Amino acid sequence: MLSKFLKQHSGPLTADLVQEPGHFGLGKIPSRLKPHATTTSICGYCATGCQLKLHLDEHGQAINLSPQSGYPVNLGMACPKGWQALDPLDAPDRATTPLFRDATGRHSPITWTEALDIFTSRLKSIRAEHGHESVAFLSTGQIPFEEMAFLGCLFKFGMGFLHGDANTRQCMATAVTAYKQSFGFDAPPYTYADFEESDVIVLVGSNLCIAHPILWQRIMRNPRDPKIIVIDPRATETAQAASQHIALRPKGDLPLFYALAHCILRDGRTDPASLARCDGLDEFTAFLGDYPPAAVTDATGLDIDAIETLARTVSEPGKRVSWWWTMGVNQSYEGVRAAQAMINLALITGNIGKPGTGANSITGQCNAMGSRLFSNTTSLVGGHDFADPEHRAKVSDGLGIPLENITAEPSLAYDQIFDAVEAGRIKALWIIATNPFHSWIDRARLDRLRDKLDLLVVQDMYHNTESALAADLILPAAGWGEKEGCFINSERRIGTLKAVRQAPGLALSDFRIFRLIANAWGCGELFTQWTDPQAAFKLLRDLTANRPCDITGIDDYEMIDRLGGIQWPWPKDSSRNSSTTSGERRLFADGNYYTPSGKAKLLFSPPAPPPEAADADFPFTLLTGRGTSSQWHTQSRTAKSDILRKLSPAAPYIEIHPDDAARLGLKEHDLARIRSRRGEMLASVYLAPTMRPSQVFLPMHYPEVNRLTHPSFDPHSRQPNYKACAVSITSAHP
Ligand code: SF4
Repeated sequence: MLSKFLKQHSGPLTADLVQEPGHFGLGKIPSRLKPHATTTSICGYCATGCQLKLHLDEHGQAINLSPQSGYPVNLGMACPKGWQALDPLDAPDRATTPLFRDATGRHSPITWTEALDIFTSRLKSIRAEHGHESVAFLSTGQIPFEEMAFLGCLFKFGMGFLHGDANTRQCMATAVTAYKQSFGFDAPPYTYADFEESDVIVLVGSNLCIAHPILWQRIMRNPRDPKIIVIDPRATETAQAASQHIALRPKGDLPLFYALAHCILRDGRTDPASLARCDGLDEFTAFLGDYPPAAVTDATGLDIDAIETLARTVSEPGKRVSWWWTMGVNQSYEGVRAAQAMINLALITGNIGKPGTGANSITGQCNAMGSRLFSNTTSLVGGHDFADPEHRAKVSDGLGIPLENITAEPSLAYDQIFDAVEAGRIKALWIIATNPFHSWIDRARLDRLRDKLDLLVVQDMYHNTESALAADLILPAAGWGEKEGCFINSERRIGTLKAVRQAPGLALSDFRIFRLIANAWGCGELFTQWTDPQAAFKLLRDLTANRPCDITGIDDYEMIDRLGGIQWPWPKDSSRNSSTTSGERRLFADGNYYTPSGKAKLLFSPPAPPPEAADADFPFTLLTGRGTSSQWHTQSRTAKSDILRKLSPAAPYIEIHPDDAARLGLKEHDLARIRSRRGEMLASVYLAPTMRPSQVFLPMHYPEVNRLTHPSFDPHSRQPNYKACAVSITSAHP
């Protein structure tokens, strides 16, 4: 393999590829992995961040795995995806060589040298003709943050482009914005131990049993006999297992939270010490005057007694109350205010900074938190601000990159990048480890926009994702298990990944691809310190000095492994880490926030009407979400596993209330046609008493689903509103 590769390449590229440490593909097994040994790695799917123990053969290749028993996150557990994490590496449709669309329209194999030449010459020519805003990248929360940072710094500071975003926009942008505005920094305050220390656990728009099954198991370990309340329009698996299900109307969450706050302030069930650490109480109290329970019964579908009772439950003196939310909140046209309404409830009742409390966003992707700190998209790398000249100087100094290269201009958000493609301002896209031609809201629009691009590059493990099939140029990438780096999980815990498999063919780690591109572009001298992932980690670590996410006290990957992962912050001054005797760390125990005043902000605004309500033509409200714990997003990986495929339906299905189905003349397993104003699809009927009448549910994993969804966005976070749009349903066999 190596000799074939060397024959195919010449000059500095070859030496670069085979000599870098920290990369397994085409190189040697890292010396710290001993044959017949085991090693550990953080799972590469969801943000729970379970640690897996990988069992190695005599060549250092992983042959099996099991959950790691001593890790403080998963405590020896893993969900089906984690157990089968090696399967997608062996898929026959791995991208094993660069591919370029030839004159016949087919993808043909080319060498890396040719691929790099096409990449650089085409993008330079577009830049020369259309300027530095004419190319954008779309990245991911699925790669190590060393790779994310390399991409963001290379693209913006080396290649000189401006716009880049990641699929974390589809996932966590709402939580990021909510925390930044309320706390002064994107700082989820909790630790997973809070699941085990709460008296009242409120899960909002979160089907934890399916989406984060290990975290549900953490709740099951709670010895305090907690009351578990699920707020969700559907009777999800989690709602059915909870103490109480509050089945509110879709997007009734924001008015409900305002009514709860109204009752709590009205009755004086507040925490004076915590209130003293908040700005905006008078304005908030005045605003809530319009939200007595009677004012929100229509919007929420709940009666006054239910709201009053819930208000008392979440403000019970002496009880530890924790609020947890996921995509049901984030993927909304007003998700930021809904998240902040929960933050407000935690603040006014004093449920923050103490065991078993918090307003806690559970992230989606394995490295969404890494993206938030290091991707150099919405925040300047290392938890900094592009607009702050001191921050730009610090980053310039830390990375050894000229100050004039560190842009102060903000990037367009994901949806705005597509708008710019439509307007002809963006001419080329570089997509890395994500699949928007499946997952983007109203995805049919992307098919139309494809023709407006002069160049579409997709860098991925597979050559046949929906996005790769649309590409002009495909760069073959190594996957999880074939490279090193770090992820950060939902509770801010940094964990390491190991290279335990050789990437197939000519596939390379994303880190190495970025090195090659830097050299080919002619800006390699700016990145000479980025020799391997651990060297990049140390650069990034040092950049975090004196920021809320300061991790300057971490020596190296070995230290992270030895301590069972490390939650940020972990500054050099070890006395500041002494509160971590239990190994668990939560923020804001001292009542100090990251805002200029040191106080948290109570933020609010009136609820807005839904962007697309059901009507006579489209009388059903479509909800979307995760289908099973064996499916991950667009299924580009989970569908490669024989075992995981057996655990979920292969074809789309729609959950519909039996009364609605009977009215439409539909029986179980009938084929239904679902239409929205944007498109249509077919799905098998699944009669579900768990649905409310007039509401239907489609799992998001099937490529047809986002032909229906409505392209509306939260105005603060630009996160897409996947969770509610209007559809009609008829039999497909009239
Ligand atoms: S997918 Fe999530 S819950 Fe499942 S093993 Fe991986 S990290 Fe754990």
